[in-house]
Amino acid sequence: MIKAVTGTKDILPSDIPRWKYLENTVERIFNSFNYKEIRTPVFEETPLFARGIGEETDIVGKEMYTFSDKSDTSLTLKPEMTAAVVRAYNEHSLGAQQSLVKLFYISPMFRQERPQAGRFRQFHQFGAEAIGSNSPLLDAEMIQMAYEILKSLGLKNLTVKINSLGTPQSRENYKKLLKNYLEEKKDRLSEDSRKRFDKNILRIFDSKVESDQLIIKDAPKITDHLDEESKIDFEVVKEQLKKSNIPFEIDSSLVRGLDYYTKLTFEIDSGSVGAQTALVGGGRYDLLIENLGGKPTPATGFAAGIERILLACENEKSLTVPEPSIDVYLIRIDDGLESFVSELGGKLRKENISVDFDYLQRSVKAQMREANRMNAKYTLFIGGDEFKAGMMNLKNMSSGEEEKISLKDINSIILKLK
Ligand code: AMP
Repeated sequence: MIKAVTGTKDILPSDIPRWKYLENTVERIFNSFNYKEIRTPVFEETPLFARGIGEETDIVGKEMYTFSDKSDTSLTLKPEMTAAVVRAYNEHSLGAQQSLVKLFYISPMFRQERPQAGRFRQFHQFGAEAIGSNSPLLDAEMIQMAYEILKSLGLKNLTVKINSLGTPQSRENYKKLLKNYLEEKKDRLSEDSRKRFDKNILRIFDSKVESDQLIIKDAPKITDHLDEESKIDFEVVKEQLKKSNIPFEIDSSLVRGLDYYTKLTFEIDSGSVGAQTALVGGGRYDLLIENLGGKPTPATGFAAGIERILLACENEKSLTVPEPSIDVYLIRIDDGLESFVSELGGKLRKENISVDFDYLQRSVKAQMREANRMNAKYTLFIGGDEFKAGMMNLKNMSSGEEEKISLKDINSIILKLK
C-alpha cells in the first residue's frame, strides 16, 4: 500500500469541522481589520526565496523543496508566504492603487524539516502583511489580530514575546558589540553556533544548546542598543499592547531566522504544544520589498501555524465544534420506492436542505441506524399503508415528535427543515 509522504498529513472529513471553524474565525477577524485575501501559486522561482528569506537561514540552506522543471528552471514549493506576497505586490504594482495594502492568506507551506509533533513537511499557515507604512501601530495591529484569533479559538496558555532589532544601522553596530563579547568565548560555542558566528551572528540566539544558552544569557541586549527611532517605535507598540490588554514579555533573544526583519519582531508561544512552542511569528520587514526589486517600502506581518494551533486547541480542549449533521434522512420502507425517494431528495436539495438516503438496499432498521450515525435532525419515513393513503411520517430526532405529512404537501416539509 502506498502511504502519504513522511511529514505530510491527510485532513480527514472528521478533522474538517475544526479546520473550517478556524478558517472562518481567521477570515472574520481579518475582515474586521479590513485585510483582503490574496492567493499565490504553490511554487515560485527559487531565487525569490533565496533572496527574500536569506541564504544563511535554515529554511533556504536546508529545508526547501527545490526541483528543476523540464525547461531547467529551478522552482521551489513555497516555504513561507511573505516573499511570495511581496513578489505579487511588486509584480502587480498593488501599491500604486493605494498607499497602504493590507493582505491576508491561508495556504499550505512546504519545508523539509525533521518531522515531529507540531512539525510537518507540508503544513498550513494563515497570516497577514501590511505593506506601505512604517507606523508601529501596524506592528501592534499584527500582534492584536493574531492574539484575537487565538483567543477566539479558546486558547489560554499563551505568551506574547516582543523584541526590536532596530534599523539596519543600529543592528550592524549591535552585531559588532556581540562579536566582541563572543570572540573570546567562541571556542566554547557549539559547532552550529561557531558557524553562525561568522555567517549570521544574531542566529546564535536561536541555539537550543544549553552551553550556548549560558554564554548568550549575559551577552549585551539588542534592546539596550537601539537607535532613537526604533526605541520610540518599540515604546508605541508596548503602549498599544497595554491599551489592548495584551500581556507581553520583552525577549531580547528573539531575533528570528529570517534576514529581512527590522525593528519589531514577535512570537506567540503556547504552553500546550510540547517542544515546538511557537504558534505565531512575525515582525517588520522594511528591507524586503526593495530587496525583491520594488521601491523602498516599509512593511510588517506575521504567520501562524494552523496544525500547531489545532494541536494546542486539542490539548486545551478549547475548541468544541458541533458534530456534523444533515437536515433529513429519507427512510424507504418498501422496495420499489427508490425513484420516488430520490426525486423527493432532489426537490429538497434544491431548497438547500441537506438530504441523504440509502443506496444499498438496506433494511429499515439499518437505514435508521444510518440516520442516527449521520446525526440527522429529521427522518422521513416513506412507504407502508401510510404511503398508500397519500401520507409520509416526519420524525424530529431530538424531540421524538412525529407528524403525518401529505405527499402533496412537500412545502410544509421544506418550511420545517429550513
Ligand atoms: P515561521 O514562518 O518559521 O516564522 O513560522 C511561523 C509559524 O508557522 C510557526 O510559529 C509555526 O506555528 C508554523 N510552522 C513553521 N514551520 C512549521 C512546520 N514545519 N510544521 C508545522 N508548523 C510550522
